[in-house]
Amino acid sequence: MSPKNDFEPIPFPKSGDWLAEHLETGQSFEDFVSIASAKPDIHRNKIYLQPLGDFIDGQSPSLEKLKAYTASYFMMDVEILPALPITGSNITSRINPYTRNRQILTSDVLTLLKKRRHPDAFCVLSITMEDLYPDPSWNFVFGEASNQDRVGVFSFARYDPVFYTEKRTKDFKQVLLRRSCKVLGHEICHMFSLAHCIYFHCMMNGSNHLQESDARPLHLCPVCLRKLQSSIGFDVVDRYQKLLDFYNTEGFENEAEWVSQRLKRILK
Ligand SMILES: [Zn+2]
Ligand SMILES: [Zn+2]
Repeated sequence: MSPKNDFEPIPFPKSGDWLAEHLETGQSFEDFVSIASAKPDIHRNKIYLQPLGDFIDGQSPSLEKLKAYTASYFMMDVEILPALPITGSNITSRINPYTRNRQILTSDVLTLLKKRRHPDAFCVLSITMEDLYPDPSWNFVFGEASNQDRVGVFSFARYDPVFYTEKRTKDFKQVLLRRSCKVLGHEICHMFSLAHCIYFHCMMNGSNHLQESDARPLHLCPVCLRKLQSSIGFDVVDRYQKLLDFYNTEGFENEAEWVSQRLKRILK
C-alpha cells in the first residue's frame, strides 16, 4: 500500500500564493496526535449543513449532492437543515460599495449557529450563495469558522463567474459543484483539527485565491488521510469506493480516475 506515484509534492509557491505569504511549518501526524483533536463520539457524530438564504436550481450547487459528497468524504451521517431565511432574521447585512451586492456579517451567523446547534452535532457548516464580510472595514471574505465551536459559514457566491460579470461556461454546474465540495471538505477537515498541509499537493493546502484553490486536488495526501482516519475510524477502501461512486455519478473524470488508480494499487 505504498503511496508512491499517486501523490505529488506540493508545488513551489508562486508570488501571491498561500505559502509565499504565510509561513507554515506543517503539522505532522505526531503533532496532530499530541493535540487534543476533536473527534466524533456516540453523543456528537453528525455533520449538519445549514443553508442560509436561497439555493436556486441552476445557479447554486445541489444541496443533495453536497450532502452525498460530505457523507462519502467523512463517512458520517450528514443532515441538511431547513434553510434559514435572511430577510426578517437578526443577521446584519450591507450593500458592498464596489460590487453593489448584498453581504452578510459572518459573526452574526456564527452566533446563530452556536445557539441553534443540535446536541448530536459534531459540526455545523452554514453554506450560502450570499457574499460575506467579517468586519465593516473588510471588503469581503470567502468564509469564517470557529473551529473550537465547530461552526462555520462559507459562501459559494464568488465561485460563480457571474459574480465577476463573466459568462458561465458550459460546464458551469460541475465547476461550481467541484469548488463547493472542495471548500466543504477542506473546512470540515479543519474542524477535525487538521491544519494546512505542506507535504504534498493535497486538499488541505492553504490557498490565497481562486486559481490556487482550483489547482488543489480533492484528495487528501497520506499524512492528512491518516489524521482524518484516526479521528473517524472509517475503512479507507470503503471510503474510496463511495467517493468513486460520487465522482462517477457527477462526471468528475479526473477525480474518478485518481481514486480508481489508488484503489487498484491498494487492493493489489
Ligand atoms: Zn484552510
Ligand atoms: Zn495533506
